Amino acid sequence: MKKVCAEYIWIDGQQPTAKLRSKTKIIDGPVKSLSELPDWGFDGSSTSQAEGHFSDCQLKPVKIVPDPLHGEHDLLVLCEVHNADGTVHATNTRAPLRVLSEKHEEHDTWFGIEQEYTFFNGNHPLGWPERGFPAPQGGYYCGVGSDEVFGRKVVEAHAAACIRAGLAICGTNAEVMPAQWEFQIGPLSPLEMGDQLWLGRWLLYRIGEDHGVSATLHPKPMKGDWNGAGAHTNISTKATRADGGIKVIEAMCEKLRKRHAEHIQVYGASNEERLTGKHETCSIHQFRYGVSDRGASIRIPMAAANEGKGYFEDRRPAANMDPYQVCAILMETVFAP
Ligand code: ADP
Ligand code: MN
Ligand code: MN
Ligand code: MN
Repeated sequence: MKKVCAEYIWIDGQQPTAKLRSKTKIIDGPVKSLSELPDWGFDGSSTSQAEGHFSDCQLKPVKIVPDPLHGEHDLLVLCEVHNADGTVHATNTRAPLRVLSEKHEEHDTWFGIEQEYTFFNGNHPLGWPERGFPAPQGGYYCGVGSDEVFGRKVVEAHAAACIRAGLAICGTNAEVMPAQWEFQIGPLSPLEMGDQLWLGRWLLYRIGEDHGVSATLHPKPMKGDWNGAGAHTNISTKATRADGGIKVIEAMCEKLRKRHAEHIQVYGASNEERLTGKHETCSIHQFRYGVSDRGASIRIPMAAANEGKGYFEDRRPAANMDPYQVCAILMETVFAP
């Protein structure tokens, strides 16, 4: 028997934006399957998930991946939070998505999310001067050179770690605001999308520790003429990917128009600071969709318009959104009768 470290990761109960927590369980290994991992518990009163007098919450492992930062047999263990009596905890947004994705299985929905984020060094963005501001936006997006981009070492370490962990990361890029970056994951089924995005975020924070930088998902980390950070959510279904799918995409956009306000409710806190109508966004008070339009709420990529099928991009979700909730409401809306 060899001891292995299993990092149990879960989502806490902080309001308005939940964050990640983890602790290490050292067990006999190697572990070959999810079912070999025991449930565990934690003090919910320290994570805004319980009152002090009845504080036990349960961790139920739902996905394991190799821990890309440690030994060969070490693991990252993503967990759902349940109450002491085994019922689903109120902060567990994965459980409802589990039910919903089974209900809509026939549609074979795929999601791909572009996670934008900003590196900070103390209380200012990485590479920004202690006082004052860097040069205005223009040369930073997909830039190269130590005067243009800040934190590439961390970005590369994160991408390599995601690959070693088996996540479906499909790209990274420097963003419009200096110290802002993006990684993309997908396309994946709804539950996998949510799980892998949360694991990718955990790795980002964790690798930031090794480099002395923190990553924030705040949608508008710097006020003023600086781009905010989103989590564009791309979606396709069996019908949108089939010939004539563009008509299905348009019909889905019309359904999305009707529920704009409800979607905004779960698209991340402080998103009104980001969805201003400037900086490649549509105002939070409007709903618009269009081909190739980066100022719309929903963008239909040129390729989908040309081929008459494919996927579309919901540009409204903020960087700090919960992918379980976003994937759930998107499925609810586009599959509504
Ligand atoms: P953008 O031009 O908006 O910056 P990116 O290349 O950053 O686009 O991201 C594209 C996203 O679209 C990725 O997350 C990818 O997984 C996702 N994607 C690609 N094909 C599909 C598809 N068929 N269904 C859903 N998502 C998809
Ligand atoms: Mn992108
Ligand atoms: Mn982007
Ligand atoms: Mn995009």
